[in-house]
Amino acid sequence: MNAKNGSSKPTTQPEHVKNLILGSGPAGLGAALYTARAQLEPVVLAGPEYGGQVSITHIVENYPGFPDAVGGAELTELFKKQAERFGARVIFDIASEVDLSKRPFRVKAYENEYLADTLIIGTGATPRQLSIPGETEFTGRGVSYCGTCDGFFFKGKEVVVVGGGDSALEEGVFLTRFATKVTVVHRRDEFRASAILQDRAKENPKMKFVWDTVVKNIHGNGAVQQVDLENLKTGKKEAFKTDGVFIFIGHTPNTELFKGQLEMDPAGYLVANRYMETNVPGVFAAGEVADPHFRQVVTSAGMGAAAGIQATRFLEDHP
Ligand code: NAP
Repeated sequence: MNAKNGSSKPTTQPEHVKNLILGSGPAGLGAALYTARAQLEPVVLAGPEYGGQVSITHIVENYPGFPDAVGGAELTELFKKQAERFGARVIFDIASEVDLSKRPFRVKAYENEYLADTLIIGTGATPRQLSIPGETEFTGRGVSYCGTCDGFFFKGKEVVVVGGGDSALEEGVFLTRFATKVTVVHRRDEFRASAILQDRAKENPKMKFVWDTVVKNIHGNGAVQQVDLENLKTGKKEAFKTDGVFIFIGHTPNTELFKGQLEMDPAGYLVANRYMETNVPGVFAAGEVADPHFRQVVTSAGMGAAAGIQATRFLEDHP
């Protein structure tokens, strides 16, 4: 839909660009740096969340070149500034329709329409939901998917964190800055998180752990007050008082737009080869939208750079 007039039709003539990039996370902006330096004058459609997941990450400690860590939002600004320095244009718009059946590829966004000689997809992934009663009802009223964004609201309170991966433990430890107690509820009896994050979580006196257990229900009165827990081994049920529920159980790739047009794996991730090529020549995929395995800022930025290089080579071969 057009943000201004409610129609799905962009109001201006399609703009023909050599390189269009969907997404402004490390993959999209990493690609833009490379295609901008190759003078393709890339246009980046920032998407619904400018900067993607890293922009709402409090501190990034594992991006090379920042020995003292860097803020996620700050890193996004640096990526953008560097790409813009070479001529990339970052536009705050969202792609709503794509036609990849022929080149140039047609991409409709809310404010404009584009004809793109090459397309790089870096639309990332979205946090997965538990899909339990109370989750949607209390989202923003105690249920959250982002400790960095919402941790401050839980100053002096007690929260539950769901999940056993890096996100759960990293965000859980971050939440101890505000909360008096952070209880991690995990469905198994061991974490899949990296050893360093496990150590950090286990050493933190405010962190508690509930194993082999799932959250079945979220209750409250205007705001979260309680979760219903169930132990998967013993079947024991427990009403657990809490002020907040932070859910970190993985992600779903943002690939809805490309269904039926690009090859995907069973989980919905775009299939790209080592050259970042999708099954449609001229369309490349980079970052978490095509990577269920690494999902790091540095790997996404690297995939973006690779996609940018390949898009440049593609245009040399298909002028
Ligand atoms: P993840 O590694 O996929 O972990 C998801 C966790 O949620 C798992 O422990 C899983 O349990 C649990 N889970 C999944 N579905 C569930 C459900 N329906 N109910 C209850 N629990 C459920 O996801 P992530 O932690 O978001 O990490 C994603 C990627 O980003 C990983 O590659 C990770 O290494 C990376 N990451 C890295 C850092 C860092 O390096 N600092 C920080 C954050 C994320 P099981 O273990 O039983 O499957």
